[in-house]
Amino acid sequence: MTLVYILAATFAGGVLSVLLAATLSLTVLRRWAPRLVGFSTGVLLAAALLNLLPEAAELLDPHAAGLTVLAGIFLFFALEKTALWRHDHTDAHHADAHRHEPVGAMIVVGDGLHNFVDGVLIAAAFLQDTSLGVAAAIAVIAHEVPQEVGDFMVLLAAGYSRVRALAMNLLSGAAAVLGGVLGWAMLQGVSGAIPYVLALAAASFLYIAVADLVPLLQRQRKPRDFAIQFALLGAGVWVVMLGAHTH
Ligand SMILES: [Zn+2]
Repeated sequence: MTLVYILAATFAGGVLSVLLAATLSLTVLRRWAPRLVGFSTGVLLAAALLNLLPEAAELLDPHAAGLTVLAGIFLFFALEKTALWRHDHTDAHHADAHRHEPVGAMIVVGDGLHNFVDGVLIAAAFLQDTSLGVAAAIAVIAHEVPQEVGDFMVLLAAGYSRVRALAMNLLSGAAAVLGGVLGWAMLQGVSGAIPYVLALAAASFLYIAVADLVPLLQRQRKPRDFAIQFALLGAGVWVVMLGAHTH
């Protein structure tokens, strides 16, 4: 049963989120995409700090959980340095617009790797507890949609056709399902590793929220934006609390 949940959650996180992102990118809904960032930030922070980290701290000793989150933040910082792990493509937009192949390869390989890890994180959360898995899945879907909208913009600007841009995003999204299945298979044998993976999931979500998404929110400077962002941050927290209500 756990594997069914993991398959459904990684399919939603990897494949359905791409289709949702494509719908947002290619229609009039496009102007709503930046608004999603506030919601995503709320979801990521809540899933990390209200679900994943407390669970890891209960299973490990709290200091070991804190240390794992710290190590994870450094790890994601290092990965982002290598440009294999990009969440905000908006700055790369203009610089890379004329380099057709590197952009596409970067998105398929970099996001594919990222989505694979997201799949493993979802598997670990579901192996620990279904409601924890739900929180992790909501957090993955919430950050993947705005991320993939960004990917679409970059690929279209780099000269890819809509069909090819969609195919490339679907390919990298499918890595989440692969990560979910392999994560499930591997972590069953080493269940002692699960709490550490939960702490790394918390680190990943905190890092994406604070390092990648908050700077995007800070670019919208009108008082009205601030009010909307606060409402969306709160909505994101609320959705996680609702989704993981047994905790
Ligand atoms: Zn992700």
